[in-house]
Formats: sequence, structure tokens, C-alpha cells
Amino acid sequence: MKTNNLDISIRYIKGVGEAREKLMGKLGITTLRDLVGYFPRAYDDRTIIKNIGELTAGETVCVRAMVADTPRLSHIRKGLDLVKLRAVDEHGSLEITFFNQAFVKDNLKQGESYIFYGKVSGSILRPEMSNPIFERTDSESDNHVGQVTGRIMPLYSLTAGLSHKIIATAVRSGLDKCADELPDVLPNGIAQEYELCRARYAYENIHFPEGFKELDIARKRLIFEELFVLVTAMKFLREKRTKKVGRSLSAPDFAPFYNALPFTPTNAQKRAIDEAARDMASDSPMNRLIQGDVGSGKTVIAAACCYMTWSAGYQSAFMAPTEILAKQHYQSLSKLLEPLGIQVGILTGSMTAKNKRETYEKLSLGEIDIIVGTHALISEAVKFKDLALVITDEQHRFGVNQRSLLTEKGDSPHVLVMSATPIPRTLALIIYGDLDVSIVDEMPPGRREIKTHVVGEHHRSRAYGYVKQLVAEGRQVYIICPMVEEDETSEDSNTSGLKSVKEYYETISTKVFPELNVELVHGKMPSKKKDVAMHAFSTGEADILVATTVVEVGVDVPNAALIIIENADRFGLSQLHQLRGRVGRGEHESHCVLFQSPGSGEISRERLEVMKTTNNGFTIAEEDLRIRGPGDFFGSRQHGLPEMHIANFATDMLVLHQAQNAAETLLQADPKLESPENQKLAAQIRRLFEINEDKMN
Ligand code: ADP
Ligand code: MG
Repeated sequence: MKTNNLDISIRYIKGVGEAREKLMGKLGITTLRDLVGYFPRAYDDRTIIKNIGELTAGETVCVRAMVADTPRLSHIRKGLDLVKLRAVDEHGSLEITFFNQAFVKDNLKQGESYIFYGKVSGSILRPEMSNPIFERTDSESDNHVGQVTGRIMPLYSLTAGLSHKIIATAVRSGLDKCADELPDVLPNGIAQEYELCRARYAYENIHFPEGFKELDIARKRLIFEELFVLVTAMKFLREKRTKKVGRSLSAPDFAPFYNALPFTPTNAQKRAIDEAARDMASDSPMNRLIQGDVGSGKTVIAAACCYMTWSAGYQSAFMAPTEILAKQHYQSLSKLLEPLGIQVGILTGSMTAKNKRETYEKLSLGEIDIIVGTHALISEAVKFKDLALVITDEQHRFGVNQRSLLTEKGDSPHVLVMSATPIPRTLALIIYGDLDVSIVDEMPPGRREIKTHVVGEHHRSRAYGYVKQLVAEGRQVYIICPMVEEDETSEDSNTSGLKSVKEYYETISTKVFPELNVELVHGKMPSKKKDVAMHAFSTGEADILVATTVVEVGVDVPNAALIIIENADRFGLSQLHQLRGRVGRGEHESHCVLFQSPGSGEISRERLEVMKTTNNGFTIAEEDLRIRGPGDFFGSRQHGLPEMHIANFATDMLVLHQAQNAAETLLQADPKLESPENQKLAAQIRRLFEINEDKMN
């Protein structure tokens, strides 16, 4: 294969050494492809150059002016140096002050002209500027690097140790290095039909726009391309599946199953079961997503599908993202199905080698009908006698690819995916383009509403008092913190106030509630320790569980009646909703207390208030999408789909529809993506979905 500059390391770029390579790695940039695809998150408009006579206080602009006197340095007091100077043009004079930048005294020369960029203060007659960015007027060049005024400046998401300028400089070299091989997967016909610019123009102008019009043209092309690849991939995968011949299972008598349930299923549950049963009876493999809010009772639907598979004489596999969840599912499925004579087994990474071997053997002999487990299920050693149904829970934790590894253990088995992250319908169709969707939009009867409170620091002692009271009544409490260690990454945002869960746990367990039994779980803990802590909490031995979002999915402790969430504004609303769903699972009245980070402001408060007004996950998802955009759904790779770098599903709907039309036309003409013209597209789909070449057909 010919070498491709796009896939070489950023170390090949001048100015990127070991240290910067590491820092950029934190931003997900390791190759030139990553680098040129690291699009600015915003732009600073420094194109407006005014003369001094036009300045008004409050505006941030560029001014071209001559330094009229020798800059004067004065030490006001220890730790405060001032450099003052006067700049003039033919319309007036501008007072400029630099705080603690003594070095500028030598960089600014009397009689020379500069462009100053900064915020104007003072009055119309005596305009002033503090700490402007400046450069000599003759430093303009065609090559934008280094030029910091008179243009649109790209602003990137940063990490400590990197500046916009460092990234921009690296991007500049990157673009120059691979100008002729920039990612360009759009077939010419489509680029023409939708009037999209060339890749080279797009990459150039998304980073270093000539002007806002050029920026728009570049954005449009890159957004289109990103959405087009996604939509084409989803359609392609779906087509591939429906062409396969599946196992048509004969529909069983469900009466014994329903009769053995400890409750009457809701209409939504019955509907989803019917839909799945119809899929499994048809002759193409089922590929269905069950979407339902936390607590809507998805497990029963999975159990019904396992029951149908067992009745037809086949095996089912049920994969959960964590050990804790696998055990929980194992327990609920055993309870529901073993009375009917069905053998349920479990397989997790932490089991002894001997236990694992026994389980492998039983699976291959068909002595286990339903196996519940973690990723351990996709290990090489796992072989089934005849696997006809694959279920994955909380699908956003698994990549599309992991799902398919499990499916390959059967002969085109039926697939059921369960997700508790409600997604607005329009989006679900795109994200799960390769799945049919059942929505469980009805809660089992008798659910209590969880009372939600948004509070600030001054409520802390009251909240802690309430914890003591509840524990005295025999209840349990969750306290959630955003992350494990103090965040040292972001330069942009002030993260110093974030509660580190370990430190917080120390304080809570030794100072605030020394008399209570407090346990800690977080994602970086060894799974054995996690299990011990979770076990203590689920048996009621521990009163309080301090945790990160590891408890987000599915953990079920009905005795917990309060969840306190620290720095709640750090979470997406859908995530908060998930967390809140940890309480209100038993007969006790339950509360959710959301602590707003100090100084996090009005918008974040407004966002949190949404949580007070509704307990409906779909409504919350719509709100989240409206307020924050879809970063929450897509940015964090929550759905096992490729990350979107530029497209925004909320605001780019129009482009999305165009991309859908284009994808449809293209796949009609070339359903297997075989034509030479579509090879770059096919390669990109393989790369994004990590599909091997031989699996494409
Ligand atoms: P999900 O996985 O959708 O969050 P689960 O399947 O864990 O929800 O169900 C949550 C709880 O509700 C479980 O304790 C389950 O036994 C109970 N449950 C499920 N369906 C019903 C129903 N139709 N009526 C009463 N309780 C139900
Ligand atoms: Mg569940």
C-alpha cells in the first residue's frame, strides 16, 4: 500500500516533540488525520480594523496605530508592573496599558506602526485599551501562521500546556504536508449535485477562514460529508443484515411464561414482546432496539425473547456492560425462567479458570439455555451448541463491532438491544439506522414520583441533616461525584471546584458521617473491590454509597430513597435522569438533590430546573438536545457510533436530509459499494466502524 501522510504520527510535524505529542494525545490527536480533523470549536473575529476616531467603549476590535512615545514601565507595587504608552493615528490617540507584561516595553518601538487587538474602554474622547494583542503591521503574510490580527482566529478546545497558537501552527504544517490527500470521500457526482466545495478548500477554510462566507462554505461541506458517511454506513449495514437468512422460530404458547410472572405486564411491555416475537418468527434475523426509560421493565421483554428461543430449542446470550449488571440480570432471569425448567448460567471475567471451563463446556453441550455475562462472552473460548438470540443491555456501552463479535458465535442469530437512554425519535432513526425500534413508554403501576431539588452550597448542612434522618429511618443514600481525580486537563474551564470522589469520600466518611457506614465505588477501582462495595450497599450493610457514574446503569437497590448529585451541572440531563432512576425503586418516598457548582450561573440553573418539572426520559432527552445540542448523545461516543466532529444533529437537520437522500441514491446504484468511485467512502466506513475488509460483503 502506498504510504499515506494522513496516517503518520504528529511527531513528524516541526514543533511537535514528545511533550506536545502527549498533550495532543489527550485531545485525541495522534495522527495527521486527527490533527487536520481537529476543527476549531469557535472563532475570534479580528477582521474589523477601525481607526481611533471610530472606537466605542465595550467593543473588541483591531486598531492600526503608531506608537507615539517611549513605553514607560512602572512598578506599582510588588507583583504589579505597568507598561503605559500612547498610540496615534490621524484621527486621535489611544492610551494603552499592559499589566504584568514588562517585556512588551522592548517589543514596542516609538515611531513604528502596529495593529492592536483588544477591548476598548474609556470615553470616546480618551479611548483606552488594556493588554491588547499586537503585531507589526508589516508582519502580514499569505501564510496565516503567526498572524494574530486582521483575520478570523481559530479557537480550539485546549488542554493545559497547549495554546490556540500552538495547535493552529501544527494544523498549518499538517495541512501543508497532506494538502493533496486530505480526507475526501464524497463521490464527485454528489459534490456537484449538492454544490459542495473541494476537500482542500474546506479544510483550509475551516481552520483558517478567509472570511465568514468562506467559513460557511467549508462548514457545509464538512458537515455534509460527516453525516453522509454516517447515514450511508447505517443504511449499508442494515441492507446487509436484511439480506441474510435468519432462523425462523415458531411462536410458542406464552401462557406459561406470563402465568409465572409476579405481576401483570404493561401494555407497552406486551407490545414490545409481540413485535420481537414477530421478528423472530420471520425469516430474516431480528435486529431490534428496545428503548425504555429506567424502570420501565425491559428485563421482562428480554426474558420473553429468551423463553421463545428456548421453546424452539435454541440458546440465548445476554451481554451486560459491567459485572454488577451481569449479576443482577442473572438473578432476575433465573428468578423468572428457572421455574419453567430453563437453565440460566453466568460468565464473567472474574470467575475462576475452573468455573469458566465448566461453563464453556456446558454451553457447547447445550446444557445451559441462557448465558448472562460481560465481555467475557465474546472471548474466543466461548462456543455455543446453537445460539439463536443475542441480547445486549445498555447498548451505548458496546461498539457496533462488539455486538457483532457476539453475533458471530451463532448462525445469523436474532439480536435484541436494550437501551435506557431515551433518545428523541428523529435521532433514534439515525443513530439506530441499522435497528428497528420498540419504545416502552409506559411505567409499571405504583411508581412514585421522585421529588427533585436544585440547591446551592448554603443548603449543604440541611442536605446532610436529611441524610442522617433517612439513615436513622433505615433508608440508604447515594452520593454521586462527577469524576475520580481532580480534573487537570481543561485550560478553558475552571475545574478547581470539582469534587474529587476519593477526597470527598474521605471527608464524608471520617468528618461528616463518622458514625455511618460509607462505601466508595468508582470506575478506576479493581472490579473485586467494586463488587465488595456494591455488595455491601445492596445488602443494606452500607448506609451511603459514594460513587461516580458507574452506578448509572441499572443498579437496583429498592431501599435507597435519596440520591445527592454533586456538581450536577457537569452532567447531561439524560445522565442525571439515569442517575435519579437509582432511587424510587421501592415503596419509599424518594428524593433527588442536585447541587449546583458554585458560580455555575443562570443557564446551568435553568437546565437543572428541567429535572424538577418532569420524570419522563424522552421529554428530558428532547430538552437536553435543545439546550446543549447533541454533544451529549454523540460527542462522548455513548452509542458505539463514530464521534461527530462537526455535525450537529439539532441544527443541521436540513443537511442531514440531503445526506440521507444522497446516501439512498448512491446505495441504489451501488448497493455493495463496489464501484471504483466509491472506494474512498467504503474505506472510511470500514475505518469508522472497524469492519474488516472481508466482512464488508
Ligand atoms: P429496566 O431494565 O427497564 O430499567 P427492570 O426490568 O429492571 O427495568 O424493571 C424494574 C422493576 O420493575 C423490577 O423490579 C421489575 O420486577 C418491576 N416490573 C417490571 N415490569 C413490571 C410490571 N408490569 N408491573 C410491576 N412491576 C414490574
Ligand atoms: Mg435494566
